[in-house]
Amino acid sequence: MAPMDTVHDVIVVGAGPAGLTAATLLHAAGLDTLCVEARDRVGGRLASIDGYDVGATWFWNGEQRVTNLVAELGITAFDQHRHGDALLQDHTGVQRFRGNPIDAPAYRFPTGADTLATGLAARLPDAALRLSTPVTGIRLDNDTVHLQTGSEVLHARQVVLAVPPALAVARITFDTPLDPDLARLAAIIPVWMGAAAKVVVRYRAPFWRTAGLAGAAISRTGPLREIHDMSGPDGTRAALFGFAHATDIGPGFEQTVTAQLTAMFGPPAAEIEALHVQNWSAEQWTSPAGATQQNNYGLFGHPRFQQPTLGGRLHWASTETAPDYTGHIEGALYAGQQAANAVLTAATATKIG
Ligand SMILES: Cc1cc2nc3c(=O)[nH]c(=O)nc-3n(C[C@H](O)[C@H](O)[C@H](O)COP(=O)(O)OP(=O)(O)OC[C@H]3O[C@@H](n4cnc5c(N)ncnc54)[C@H](O)[C@@H]3O)c2cc1C
Repeated sequence: MAPMDTVHDVIVVGAGPAGLTAATLLHAAGLDTLCVEARDRVGGRLASIDGYDVGATWFWNGEQRVTNLVAELGITAFDQHRHGDALLQDHTGVQRFRGNPIDAPAYRFPTGADTLATGLAARLPDAALRLSTPVTGIRLDNDTVHLQTGSEVLHARQVVLAVPPALAVARITFDTPLDPDLARLAAIIPVWMGAAAKVVVRYRAPFWRTAGLAGAAISRTGPLREIHDMSGPDGTRAALFGFAHATDIGPGFEQTVTAQLTAMFGPPAAEIEALHVQNWSAEQWTSPAGATQQNNYGLFGHPRFQQPTLGGRLHWASTETAPDYTGHIEGALYAGQQAANAVLTAATATKIG
């Protein structure tokens, strides 16, 4: 380390909702904060294309952190469309149910869930957020953590690792090794939705609503296993979306999806304007290799991730580490807040000590 190198109070690795929450709180508290993000955009699994969510879609009643953030950012959330009948597809065919037992009451972001991330990022000065900056190595040296990114090394007193633990240990070389039990645990904690693909299918109009359908469906035959209306407010930007397992994607997948939707929703479902397949298992900065095989969800929010590691200087923060609302955006905000509090406590102790 050269004598003139900057040592930041804290570096946050990852600009998803957890990392941005931590970074904005720490910056607001007056710490010299740098947030580094591997992708060329913020948001992580909050990702929207032309306002259509290809990652997270909803938030729910009782999720106070998201509700507060939505209010602070001046976002006018709207209700998930639920009105109409639901469908069930199995090997005997397609059945229609009176009403919609599939969709729980939920709220949507009118221009996409990524507005939460861009809104948070706007609270940071330009110099405090670096995109296209993947961290590939971490080393502790006395009271300083060194982060390798490309040919550059960044330095900080404390680090918030705001990426899923399994991804962190797959993509980052810990030159100062993690405790072996912790490293093993991190490697097997699943990435929430890391095995999922989200298929967004756009239409000229929400034709299913005219037929008295909610757009909600469950299929036991697939490839889309769960389908929902994904239109914008008042049925604008008409769309359905479905979840598939990433292992179901292969040659002819789009044609199979079109055939499934047509079998379920009728011939207008074949009149597709655009179809987007977002395979999260293939995203280098979301899922490690083997994400489709991980299913040990009981490890979510594990106590080991509530404790800092590397001499108390590395704090975990992703939705997978949140003690509550794990997997949700709300969990990511929780984890980010918790990590920020831990960093502030440690920073205060160092100043006093
Ligand atoms: C298809 C899908 C649907 C979902 N639906 C919902 C929903 O409806 N409601 C809900 O509440 N939640 C939903 N979720 C979950 C929600 O998206 C996550 O809980 C949330 O995004 C997690 O935030 P995070 O900050 O913990 O992680 P992420 O959003 O994954 O952010 C991590 C960030 O770290 C970056 N990064 C990774 N490695 C490095 C590195 N080495 N160096 C630098 N940066 C790095 C990544 O690029 C990313 O930006 C869904 C997720 C998916 C995939």
